[in-house]
Amino acid sequence: MKVPVNEPVITDESKKLVLDALETGWISSAGQYIETFEQEFAQFLGVKHAITTTSGTTALHLSLLALGIGPGDEVIVPAFTMIASVDAILYVGAKPVFIDSEPDTFNMDVSLLEKKITKHTKAIMPVHIYGHSVDMDQVLQIAKAHDIVVLEDAAEAHGATYKGRMCGSMGRINAFSFYGNKIITTGEGGMVVTDDTVLAARCRTLKDLAHSPKRRFWHEELGYNFRMTNLQAAVGVGQLRSIKTFLEKKRWMAAEYGKRLKDVKGLRLPITKDYAENVHWMYAVIVEDSCALSKNELRSALTDVGIDTRDFFYSAASMPLVKQYVDPSEHFPVAEDLEKRGLYLPSGLALTQEQIEYVCQSICDIIGV
Ligand SMILES: *Cc1c(COP(=O)(O)O)cnc(C)c1O
Repeated sequence: MKVPVNEPVITDESKKLVLDALETGWISSAGQYIETFEQEFAQFLGVKHAITTTSGTTALHLSLLALGIGPGDEVIVPAFTMIASVDAILYVGAKPVFIDSEPDTFNMDVSLLEKKITKHTKAIMPVHIYGHSVDMDQVLQIAKAHDIVVLEDAAEAHGATYKGRMCGSMGRINAFSFYGNKIITTGEGGMVVTDDTVLAARCRTLKDLAHSPKRRFWHEELGYNFRMTNLQAAVGVGQLRSIKTFLEKKRWMAAEYGKRLKDVKGLRLPITKDYAENVHWMYAVIVEDSCALSKNELRSALTDVGIDTRDFFYSAASMPLVKQYVDPSEHFPVAEDLEKRGLYLPSGLALTQEQIEYVCQSICDIIGV
């Protein structure tokens, strides 16, 4: 049996809507599905404004541009994250200040936050890793006390909640991704969301080449083309209308893996804190020292039987890219440990019961119970 690490589900509704967009000729970034997608996404999150972009990376970039963050400013970001969180900070010329993670949720360790704040800190970027919310109360409270903006990177957390609040609705301005392996997808795409009307307007101007509001084709500042197409938005509308089913599928997947893998020696399964509703974007496990195999041995044994897995992210603080920003004496022991021990199992929305059983049986056979 072959089990891919991710396979998206494209519903009939998405197919119907994208065909409609094609047939009406509205294939570029004007067209009704852009507006519908933005409105329905804002409604889903309970926020005032949603602004489509070309990717999660450009959604983060646009958020930082709208906030006016730039050279001389610092943004606190977890070392354990996907590189796009860090790239966005570098694009605007600001300095990424890395923070280590919690070993159990893999999220930024908020107990270390206060120490990272300087007079240059302009924003904190919590990233809800693999679909589990960051402990947001503390982040929001510390940010407020220091007059710092919170920008959530919610690219892995559509529909996840923190104490009942939606991830991606708690910061001043927040970003989502609709890449092919995300909980809902438009192929490539992203969204900025905010309750702040001024920031939303800034985003709309900057993502469309910054035409002067009074004079079209007149430009007083540098703009960008971060426009999503109506074709992508049509896919997105169909996806969003199925998100409840998708989230149920993720919960079912986690429960199936959990009950079959709970006794495997040396395999640590994902946890969910009381404050969080975990959407298990990826089913992420840790290979402990007590396991009969190393992570690499386990991954290659699974590859041999047709099961595709992925490593965790490398600590972003160890990338040559950010060398100039990281004091060589500073270490991120949890992020570095996660990169050594972490992997995720096939987690796509198209995963079947038979595939999950096969993955779990293979792991039990390989490791021994
Ligand atoms: C996927 C992802 C992004 C980037 O999204 P793209 O749409 O691929 O540009 C940013 N941050 C995190 C945490 C992600 O997982």
